[in-house]
Amino acid sequence: MKEHYDVVIVGSGLGGLVSSIILAKEGYSVCVLEKNNQYGGNLQTFVRDKTIFDTGIHYIGGLDEGQNLHQYFKYLGIIDKLNLKKLDENAFDIISFEDDKTEYPHAQGYENFVQQLKKYFPEEEKNISDYCEKLKAICDSFPLYNLESEGKYDSEILTLNAKETIDSFTENEKLKAVLAGSNFLYAGIPDKSPFYVHALIVNSYIQSSWRCINGGSQITKQLLKQLKKYGGEFYKHKEVTRFEVENHKVNSVKMKDGTQVSGTFFISNIEPKTTLKMAGEANFRKPFFNRIQSLEGVLSAFSLYLVFKPETFKYINHNYYHFKNSSEVWSAHEYDENSWPKMYMASMNASKEDEIWADGMTFITYMKFDDVLPWTNTFNTTVEKNDRSESYEEFKARKTAKFLDEIEIKFPGIRECIKSIHTSSPLSYRDYIGGDNGNMYGYVKDSNNPLKTLIPSKTKLENLYLTGQSINMHGVLGVTIGAVVTCSEIVGKEYLINKINQTAE
Ligand SMILES: Cc1cc2nc3c(=O)[nH]c(=O)nc-3n(C[C@H](O)[C@H](O)[C@H](O)COP(=O)(O)OP(=O)(O)OC[C@H]3O[C@@H](n4cnc5c(N)ncnc54)[C@H](O)[C@@H]3O)c2cc1C
Repeated sequence: MKEHYDVVIVGSGLGGLVSSIILAKEGYSVCVLEKNNQYGGNLQTFVRDKTIFDTGIHYIGGLDEGQNLHQYFKYLGIIDKLNLKKLDENAFDIISFEDDKTEYPHAQGYENFVQQLKKYFPEEEKNISDYCEKLKAICDSFPLYNLESEGKYDSEILTLNAKETIDSFTENEKLKAVLAGSNFLYAGIPDKSPFYVHALIVNSYIQSSWRCINGGSQITKQLLKQLKKYGGEFYKHKEVTRFEVENHKVNSVKMKDGTQVSGTFFISNIEPKTTLKMAGEANFRKPFFNRIQSLEGVLSAFSLYLVFKPETFKYINHNYYHFKNSSEVWSAHEYDENSWPKMYMASMNASKEDEIWADGMTFITYMKFDDVLPWTNTFNTTVEKNDRSESYEEFKARKTAKFLDEIEIKFPGIRECIKSIHTSSPLSYRDYIGGDNGNMYGYVKDSNNPLKTLIPSKTKLENLYLTGQSINMHGVLGVTIGAVVTCSEIVGKEYLINKINQTAE
């Protein structure tokens, strides 16, 4: 590692890596520092019984030619290197309920989305179409989402509430639940989640939906290759503990192993609460520091990773969002010991283009950090291996059994197909990613007070910038666009968007 770089990036999550390539392509010397053994943050995969599992990427939208993420990934030099499998055109997601045998599809392509749902709601065609038009209209208002540098959305848009807006299209309660059924994608909260968040995410999947064959870590691998090509450097097992600040500027970062590196610009891809503390509370205005520290994190998750015995469980080319009943769509995060889990998302790994049998399957549901409070003082990752105690193992075993009981109602006989079971809890997300209380997607956005969670990517320290899922939006698309916002602060927005559009032509 050199003593000085033009740009030092802390954290190799998607936001850090995309920023690193943008700036390396512009001729800056760039260095990415990652605390973990594996780069990529939520893009990390792990292997159990020779089966690859994703931790934080189950499907990606907008990757067809001409669509937004395709264009961004083309600029980053990775689009034609990815090994992807398109989910079912007629049902990339299925919304289902324990008290209803029907499986309600979300289909790819707007026309198809309406046609497939119309089969189950014949009276509702116009309402479904109107809902689709609203999604498109909202998405059209965000310039960078459409690879434009100019344009401004009416800030009223930010105050539209997701539940209220979705509900306004129909009187049919089941249809309301089906349209909102994938709100786990943003951990939907009825009186808070903004409609623009719903629209920006759901629209990208309706455009096109893809699984990464053999996992999302291929995105990391390809991004690192590109970074190397442009002269960028990256180092793992480098946990940054402090930003050294002097005269409103960061001079260097200090790492846990005692090393230090200086830079002209610094981009933090780690959670803003932590970043501000690491740069020193006194270096920020008190109200700003306090506002950020008081932000509520999105709920965390408990995941079950099942490895199947060979040729026992058929591959399914869609995801499930399954609820106990349709009234739980907006309240699944409010549970107690008995009612947990009220919903889950089910997805499977794709290991080749054409497959009949599944190697493994992942089930995720909400879990509050409070549920793992007894073990909050433990820390365990592959770099720092520690035992969380027997009681934690018992807790996980109890939760696993309860979760599997619920899963078996929807997938009868699944237990017999299982070779081994693996789990992750809010503690795993916290320790691997560094997010406050293991939050899944950054901070809760609130349609009642959109400015409260707005975090500018340029900080008051002259050369410190923020990127990642807590700034702007989460998800592969949201974080990629967020990195463009961050780097625009350094190289200029119009200039950067022109460059991105030129490569995409
Ligand atoms: C359960 C789950 C499922 C998801 N499913 C999907 C999906 O299907 N599709 C989709 O598009 N999105 C999905 N997401 C969201 C998506 O994965 C994230 O929004 C995105 O990957 C976050 O990128 P980031 O740039 O914020 O970095 P992060 O992933 O937050 O990574 C931050 C990095 O910084 C490192 N770091 C932290 N502290 C330090 C330090 N002090 N020093 C050095 N390094 C440090 C961490 O180790 C990590 O590598 C999911 C997320 C979760 C949790």
